Amino acid sequence: MDHFLYRDGVLHAEDVPVAEIAAQVGTPFYLYSTATLTRHFTLFDEALSGMPHMVCYAMKAASNQAILRTLADLGAGMDVVSGGEYARARAAGVPGDRIVFSGVGKTEEEMRMALEGGIRQFNLESEPEMERLSRIASSMGVEVPVTVRVNPDVDAKTHAKIATGKSENKFGIPISRAKEVYARIKDLPGLKAVGIDVHIGSQLTDLEPYRQAFLKVGELTDALRAEGHEIQRLDLGGGLGIPYTRSNEAPPLPSQYGDLIRETLGDKGCEIEIEPGRLVAGNAGIMVSRVIYVKSGEGRDFLILDGAMNDLIRPAMYDAHHDIVPVVEPAPGTEQQPYDIVGPVCESGDTFAKQRMMPPLAEGDLVAFRSAGAYGAVMSSEYNTRPLIPEVLVKGDQFAVIRPRPSFDDIINRDTLPSWL
Ligand SMILES: *Cc1c(COP(=O)(O)O)cnc(C)c1O
Repeated sequence: MDHFLYRDGVLHAEDVPVAEIAAQVGTPFYLYSTATLTRHFTLFDEALSGMPHMVCYAMKAASNQAILRTLADLGAGMDVVSGGEYARARAAGVPGDRIVFSGVGKTEEEMRMALEGGIRQFNLESEPEMERLSRIASSMGVEVPVTVRVNPDVDAKTHAKIATGKSENKFGIPISRAKEVYARIKDLPGLKAVGIDVHIGSQLTDLEPYRQAFLKVGELTDALRAEGHEIQRLDLGGGLGIPYTRSNEAPPLPSQYGDLIRETLGDKGCEIEIEPGRLVAGNAGIMVSRVIYVKSGEGRDFLILDGAMNDLIRPAMYDAHHDIVPVVEPAPGTEQQPYDIVGPVCESGDTFAKQRMMPPLAEGDLVAFRSAGAYGAVMSSEYNTRPLIPEVLVKGDQFAVIRPRPSFDDIINRDTLPSWL
């Protein structure tokens, strides 16, 4: 459920007509709903009720300061995957002891930054990383809580680019090696193993892969405890999918996911951490764009929008589907027609949808890409020197620009000329 609905024939974000924001901010732009962010975070929090837990929002999904602050005010922790994200989380007011650090390639600088600023735990992804973190933490005279991300070798049954839990993926340590790795951690100074971490992929629409992974984590918990390790936390990652089409998909609900965790791991007496990103932010954001031209090709009509693949890369990168809806609700019974919906970038890949059935649209009309809140703005670029598009946050009847559109001069002035030119 989200808070982007037609009211009196026009699309609203909560209580604000989308067209009103477009008139003030210009198109294209991202638009987020506070009520939807809040609702999704709260669903996860409630799904784990009765178990000690922390919901660490995977901020790579959407990392604007205003979004982070909104979630932090609700009690969210953060899952970060870079020094930049760590800095962003801290800047948004998230204390270090609510931040977990994931990622396969943490650098020495990133480790130092988190150790100095405070960190809840590092999720270790390799043995070289473990050795390096030990060296740095012990040289700083601290002992840092760690988990090991195990790769359970289960098929998440999702798009290949976002599956992470198969042995062929670069993530984590094979679960078969876990005992040796935990034994090594015990010998290393500066590290304290406090738990186990797993994250098998993104946009999962079936609970079965989770069940397989959680059962393996449960077995490993018992096995490690038998060897004297104090396993107190289980970080179960993120990955729960969202419906990208209104019509047919029905991914599991956070409550069902919570029930599965309770059923498979509830008896371990561990604090449960989860790291949802997409499900928190995905349906809490839309991208609003305007039709520049309607172009008739041979046997097909193109809607050429002012939004492009540099603004929303998911269709080009993951063959992702986004529902695209007109901002003015079509009258009942309006006949639909097929359009190829494209942006202005000089790549054939700059195609959002082919032969998409839409009500007739004309130059100047506004459309909204639904479910664009996660992996949208964060993956945008300035390819073709198209300025990063603004982000806007709605709350009730108020809205605010939370990232302004840079001017052309802002972009050009980021370059510097060498002295010889
Ligand atoms: C990307 C990622 C997440 C979040 O995944 P979603 O599908 O957005 O929920 C959580 N944990 C880790 C380690 C990740 O890399």
